[in-house]
Amino acid sequence: MMVAIAEIAERTEGNDNVLKIRNLSTHYFSRRGVLKAVDRVSMDLKKQEFVGIVGESGCGKSTLAFSIMRLIQPPGKIVEGEILFNGKDLLKLKDEEMRKVRGKEIGMVFQDPMTSLDPLEKIGDQIVETIQMHEDIGKNEALEKAMKLLESVGLPGDRVNYYPHQLSGGQRQRVMIALAIALNPTLLIADEPTTALDVIVQEKIMEILQNMKEEGRSIILITHDFSLAAEKSDRIVIMYAGWIVEMGDSSKLVKEPMHPYTEGLLESVPDIWLQKKIKTMPGFPPDLINPPSGCKFHPRCPHAMEVCKREEPPLIGVNERLVKCWLYK
Ligand code: SF4
Repeated sequence: MMVAIAEIAERTEGNDNVLKIRNLSTHYFSRRGVLKAVDRVSMDLKKQEFVGIVGESGCGKSTLAFSIMRLIQPPGKIVEGEILFNGKDLLKLKDEEMRKVRGKEIGMVFQDPMTSLDPLEKIGDQIVETIQMHEDIGKNEALEKAMKLLESVGLPGDRVNYYPHQLSGGQRQRVMIALAIALNPTLLIADEPTTALDVIVQEKIMEILQNMKEEGRSIILITHDFSLAAEKSDRIVIMYAGWIVEMGDSSKLVKEPMHPYTEGLLESVPDIWLQKKIKTMPGFPPDLINPPSGCKFHPRCPHAMEVCKREEPPLIGVNERLVKCWLYK
C-alpha cells in the first residue's frame, strides 16, 4: 500500500517524539564548489527508540550527527532546516543555550576517544569537570559520581586515577560513554563507537548502549556496519550521498530491502557461515561537489531508468517504509 509521506509523518507525530529533523541541509564551502553533505534530510526519533544510521564513508551520517549537536565547523554550515529536540528548535538557540543542551540533554560518543580525551588529565578529573560545568556540586561529590558512572559502564571506579594512555581502546570508549551520560541526557548519539575495537569489546559497548535505552534514553547509532545496526536497532536509516534513501523497521528492512542501494549494502555484508556469496557494489560514492544528475545513485544502480538520470526521485511512503526511488512511484 502506498501512502503519502505526510500521512506517515502524521502517524509518527506525538509527544513520544524526542527529536524531529525537518528538511535539514548542511553544506561545506570550498574553492571547488559547494559540497552538500546533508541534503534536505527529515527524520524522527521516539523516546526510548534505538535508531541505526547506516551508509558508506562520506554519505553524510556523521555530518548529520554533528549538525544535531551544532558542532559543524567552518567551512561547513547548516544552511536550512529545523532540528526540534523536545519541542525546541536547536538551530534557534543562542550558543550559550546550546552549550547547556550539549551534555545535559544530548550526549555524544565520538569515534576516536584518544582525540576526545585530554591525554594529560586523569579520567576522573575530566568527568568531574564535565559534571561541575553543569551542576553546582562539590569536587568530592562529583568524584563519587564519576566513580559510579565508570562502574555503570563496567569499569572499576578506581580508574578515575588513570590517564587515558593507561587504558585499552575498549576501556577508553567506555570512559567516553561515561562522559556522555554523566549529566543523564535523554538522547545519546554514538558515532562509530566500536570501529577500532575487537568483536568482544564491541558487543560489550553495544550492551551498554542497549542498557541506556532500557533506562529510557533514545539512541542514535552512526555506523557503516549494517549487521551491527540490524541486530541492535529498532529502526534503520540508510543514507547515500547526503540523502536518506530508505528508512524503516530494522527486521523488515533487512528481510525486504526496497531501495537498490540498501539491497547492494546487504549483499556486501559477509556471512559468517559462508552460505551466500558476497557481492561488492559496483562503483564509488559520488563526488558531492559535482554529484550525478537526477538520482545520485543512478551510475551504480542495476535498475536505473531514463527518468533516474533526469529527475531527483521523491521520498515515497510504502506501508511503514520510506524509500527515495523512482521504482515505487
Ligand atoms: Fe536506481 Fe532509479 Fe531508484 Fe535511483 S531512482 S535507486 S537509479 S531505480
